Amino acid sequence: MSDWNIDQAEELYGVNRWGAGYFSIGENGNIQICPNHRLPDVTIDMKEVVDEIISEGIQFPAVIRFHDILRSQVEIINETFGKLIDEANYQGKYCGVFPIKVNQMREVVEEIMDAGEPYNYGLEAGSKPELVAVMAYNDNPDALTILNGYKDKDYLTLALLGRQLKRKMIIVIEKFSELEMLIPLAKQMGVEPMIGLRSKMMVKSSGKWAGSSGDRAKFGLSIAEILNVIERLREEDMLHCAKLLHFHIGSQLSDIRKIKEAVNEGARLYAKLVQEGVPLEYLDIGGGLGIDYDGTSTTSDSSRNYSTEEYIADVVWGVKQICDLEEVPHPNLVSESGRAMTAHHSCVVTNIVGEMKPAGTQYDISASSDEHILVKNMRELHNSGDQFHPQERYNDAAGYKQNAYEAFKLGILSLNEMAKLDTMYWQILADIHHALDKDTYVIQELEELEDMLASQYLCNFSVFQSAADTWAIGQVLPVVPISRLNEQPEVRCSIVDITCDSDGKLSKYIEGTEISDHIPMHNLRKGENYHVGLFLTGAYQDVMGDMHNLFGRLTEVHVYCHDDEPGDFYIEEVVPGTSAEKVLQTMQYNTEYMAKTVKKQIDRQVRKGSLAPREGVRWTNFYEQCLAGSTYLSVE
Ligand SMILES: *Cc1c(COP(=O)(O)O)cnc(C)c1O
Repeated sequence: MSDWNIDQAEELYGVNRWGAGYFSIGENGNIQICPNHRLPDVTIDMKEVVDEIISEGIQFPAVIRFHDILRSQVEIINETFGKLIDEANYQGKYCGVFPIKVNQMREVVEEIMDAGEPYNYGLEAGSKPELVAVMAYNDNPDALTILNGYKDKDYLTLALLGRQLKRKMIIVIEKFSELEMLIPLAKQMGVEPMIGLRSKMMVKSSGKWAGSSGDRAKFGLSIAEILNVIERLREEDMLHCAKLLHFHIGSQLSDIRKIKEAVNEGARLYAKLVQEGVPLEYLDIGGGLGIDYDGTSTTSDSSRNYSTEEYIADVVWGVKQICDLEEVPHPNLVSESGRAMTAHHSCVVTNIVGEMKPAGTQYDISASSDEHILVKNMRELHNSGDQFHPQERYNDAAGYKQNAYEAFKLGILSLNEMAKLDTMYWQILADIHHALDKDTYVIQELEELEDMLASQYLCNFSVFQSAADTWAIGQVLPVVPISRLNEQPEVRCSIVDITCDSDGKLSKYIEGTEISDHIPMHNLRKGENYHVGLFLTGAYQDVMGDMHNLFGRLTEVHVYCHDDEPGDFYIEEVVPGTSAEKVLQTMQYNTEYMAKTVKKQIDRQVRKGSLAPREGVRWTNFYEQCLAGSTYLSVE
């Protein structure tokens, strides 16, 4: 056994760096979770959670939700705003909202509302169906409901209904035409709306969502349009309805300087509008609070170069300074942080169901008498050991392989000879790689050997369902084995999913402080499960997954910790994953008809005598079981 220890595992997988205090590696080599920020001594052993899931007969893959993490995040943002507002002697309050598009799962929204109640934490909707949901779930009359996105008459009417119900619903005007629709509706219903104005910001954010600001942004009003809106409201004697100024310069803001710049611009605009007589009460800074997915604390797209506290301090002090200079009241501060609220609370746990390794092919390579010269050449190279420089061996092996391929196409080499050649080729490469030292690594081709020889671990999940952003925008998500972290991981591998799509794989991994094409994992052991966790999937990934290959939603396990028994936890709820039947039905299949059709065909074979009646019944039942069963691989 090597002298591997958990400090090296931490160095490699960076669990503390991206874990935000919630995740760490335990002395026993298992991932530990500390889900409640108020109870730092309470930790849950992730392996125990996995074992409990297995003993309940639940199949992987599964989404595990730690509701205590969700609550902690809500408490932390509200309390940090509260603390810094006090420290700065800031005159406004913090009135945060959770944008449900980040994770619309009912249980998530309910938990957030419950944890946020003492702070009057509200909700944000960006579409009509989301508004339908928040109407029912935000019934706190003191909490805000912020309504963004493009609106039609029904959307606006629902919002006015909210006002009738005495809710603080703020309709954020994205386009001038929305105002033209709203004014007559409000008059007709005799309801006074609360109106927000979304500003198209001049600050250019960086990263994947840079298009959310600037002249070509999809959302918001230019300064000229804002002034037209004000004019129009004044004409209609509705200027007093304008309560909020809103901006959102993009998600996952990685650079704090852009945030400061945006806060400056937004606060200045707020102050100037107040000076023009617009009675604004709220300044809404949108979302964008980032997550350090790759643990590098840099401005890379999957990271952020600031802490949550620093972000909040910059907002509070930044707005205060400008308001004091401009001699206008401090507005109440609204933020719409979604990613930061939910990313940590859920992860996908699944099993590795197989390994594909290029050098693992074992075909009998023993010499035969009438062997082709190409096979003989490769054999000599194979047996040459370290007589030659690694580069020379590599060049020869690659050359022979190319020649063999040409010869095969011409019908000169047999299948048997090709198999031998191929086996020897990969063994030579493995051999060279094994013998390499630091000095020879400078040769670039030899460096690529590492990639050529890496294994592929076949993982029971779908990238398109569970980690859409890794595929769509090259987002890095941490992948770590749940246990065995006190053992040296000896296999360099990449992780591929079970879809029939070559894109169905994770292509970027955290390796120390670098982003790498491969990740070291442990040797798979016969008869033993190897569970890995895909972490920080609670924002967007949970709900953006698609139906590629009809895999559908995963089983969900909701975990809470016992306050009074440190280390103890309980599974509060299990939401079954989508069955094959359900997935097919959403694609318009009539599964009853399908079962009947298959049964008919079986019955026909029974009548013909080619199937025993008893067997026919068994096959019929089996087909029905598959319909009702899981879409993912069943592993015994
Ligand atoms: C998406 C979005 C958010 C959430 O952004 P995060 O980066 O997840 O915090 C907030 N406000 C608006 C208007 C959005 O479109």
